[in-house]
Formats: sequence, structure tokens, C-alpha cells
Amino acid sequence: MVKDRRYIADLMLMRLARWMRMAGHDVSNPPEGADDSDLIEIALAEGRTLLTRDKLLAKRCEKAEARCILISSSDLDEQLSEIEDAGIFLEPEPVRCTLCNGLLQEVVESESCDDPRRPEGGPALWRCESCGKLYWRGSHWRGIRDRLKRRDS
Ligand SMILES: [Zn+2]
Repeated sequence: MVKDRRYIADLMLMRLARWMRMAGHDVSNPPEGADDSDLIEIALAEGRTLLTRDKLLAKRCEKAEARCILISSSDLDEQLSEIEDAGIFLEPEPVRCTLCNGLLQEVVESESCDDPRRPEGGPALWRCESCGKLYWRGSHWRGIRDRLKRRDS
């Protein structure tokens, strides 16, 4: 199982990228206005595996000797299965911000959390170091778990 690899997703796979981050994977968003050549350059420079649905881009990656995973389905569940078929482990883990790919820091109990949606007495809370978004294990988390589990049956 591959866990320590880094990725960059192309714009067609932003949803898949978010789901991979929920499983703790480091998945970069493409910089604004980045074209295919930029993506390949970033993949090479940062040692990231490019995730794309674009066959031509995948071919260009191969030529440039950049790592690439070509996703064929447009359906999220099938895409997640393709990711698992590539040997990438998917289990929800509070490590990465699903929006910006920042690292999550566990918030200590004494710190206040004003978000009214947070469940009462929820023990674990995480904050994104980059954008400040808060995460906790609640109904949203269970939803992720269910979605990832559902595909096993
Ligand atoms: Zn963030």
C-alpha cells in the first residue's frame, strides 16, 4: 500500500482530490492558470504523481518521465476504486485540509471553537494551518467513512 507519495490533481479531478485528502494524502491543486506543461513541471519538480483524466496529458507525462495515474471514470465512486486499484490506501484520517491541502493541527481542549455546528463535547478538533478551516469527527466524518466503505460491498 502506498501512503507516503505526493500527488497533484488536474482541474477535472478536484472532487477526487478532496476525497483523497480526507484519507490524509498530500494532493496539490494546480496553480491558477497552469497549463499541461506546468502540471508536468510541478510533478517533476516536487516529485508528485499527476492525477488526470486526460489521455494526452498522461502520454506527455510518460514521455517526460513524470509519474502519472490516468483515471478513466467520471464517476466519483469509480474514481476512488481506480485510486485503490493503483495501490493507494483510502481511510478517513484528519491530516490534510480537504480544501487547500494544508496540514491539520489538533486543537487543544482549552482553545475555543465558536462554530455552532460542532457537536457538543466533541473531543477531537483539528484546524488547518493554512486556511483555518475546522474539522471534527461528526456526521460529516461518518459520511466519508460510509462512502469509502460502501464501495467494498
Ligand atoms: Zn485549509
